[in-house]
Amino acid sequence: MRRIGIYGGTFDPPHLGHVRAAMEAVRSLGLDLLLVIPDRSPPHKSLSERSATPEQRLEMVRLAFAGEVKVSVLDLELRREGKSYTYETVEQLRQQYPDDELILLMGTDMFLSFLQWRCPERILAQASLGVFYRGDRGEQAAIDEKKAEMEAQGHVVHLVKNPVVDISSTQLRRMLVFRCAGPFLPEGVGDYIRERGLYGTDRDYRGLSMEELEPVVLSLLKKSRVDHVLGCRDTAVELAKRWGADENDAARAGILHDVTKALDGPLQLTLCQEYGTILSDFGKKYPKTLHALTGALVAERIFAETPAVVTAIRHHTTGRGNMGLLEKIIYVADYMEPNRDFPGVEKLRELAFSDIDAALKLGLEYTLEHLKRLGDEVSPESREALEWLAKK
Ligand code: FE
Ligand code: FE
Repeated sequence: MRRIGIYGGTFDPPHLGHVRAAMEAVRSLGLDLLLVIPDRSPPHKSLSERSATPEQRLEMVRLAFAGEVKVSVLDLELRREGKSYTYETVEQLRQQYPDDELILLMGTDMFLSFLQWRCPERILAQASLGVFYRGDRGEQAAIDEKKAEMEAQGHVVHLVKNPVVDISSTQLRRMLVFRCAGPFLPEGVGDYIRERGLYGTDRDYRGLSMEELEPVVLSLLKKSRVDHVLGCRDTAVELAKRWGADENDAARAGILHDVTKALDGPLQLTLCQEYGTILSDFGKKYPKTLHALTGALVAERIFAETPAVVTAIRHHTTGRGNMGLLEKIIYVADYMEPNRDFPGVEKLRELAFSDIDAALKLGLEYTLEHLKRLGDEVSPESREALEWLAKK
């Protein structure tokens, strides 16, 4: 009797996180064979980029696992008509491997919702479960509870420690647009993507019109950030009108200012590394604040924005000494756009149209208070900005 793992997923595109997790399952569960099965999920769609077809996903998965002798990539879900359920796949594999032990692999979220899947009992009649876990404390408690519950019903649940590669396919597609996906792509997959221009890799993002720029930027954001970014753009344009700044620059800086915000801390650091940027100690310590720096780098290198736009993005979270008009406008617009709601925002909105320096100062002071409450450090740039404003 052999021990066979089943590892399904969308793989849009496959990345090193998938490969490392799969090979850890092979090792730690002592699998004789791992079946990797791309699913039929509808392709990820974006207005701004070319999505991979199911056949291309299959080909990329083959490339990702090329040379792994214990891995076999199957197209059985892709060949099936209509919607395809895991229980059907497992039952089909059971017919193919009547005498072997089957282990269905899945991530934590999937495991925790497993009983809500279609016909879980039909899966459990044929296979045991293998759950990838990362060892976060909150997650661990939930997994242990669920595992105990299922074992009490006589089912077998294996745990596989996931060697954490901090990436998801969604994040990877963003990194591809930023031309920084290299560290996460298995050999062969990166070339395949670039040769076919998948996920926007063949697109020249330089010099886009405002109309072209908007859908590209919005596709790089988390949904929850879209309203904020559009609000910031509109507010920046109003302030540009009021203070006589370039409205087009204001709109572009406004819409681009948080373009890398969806990346978590480790990915911010990867982007800095890939772009060859030297980081300040403050940036290393607070990688979430790096989105201003990485946003500026992306605006410059990917979108070829003007120095004024790039600089405004660069300093939108901290400010700095000697800020130019567009920098002030983006800083203040980010703070007061219509979706912002905090005590004092109305005062800031009033000041923004009567005395932009006073509005800027108030924003900086709010930030200082906020950081103090969190017990976080204030960036040197914010201190310089306040000293500069005090002297004015
Ligand atoms: Fe921001
Ligand atoms: Fe923002």
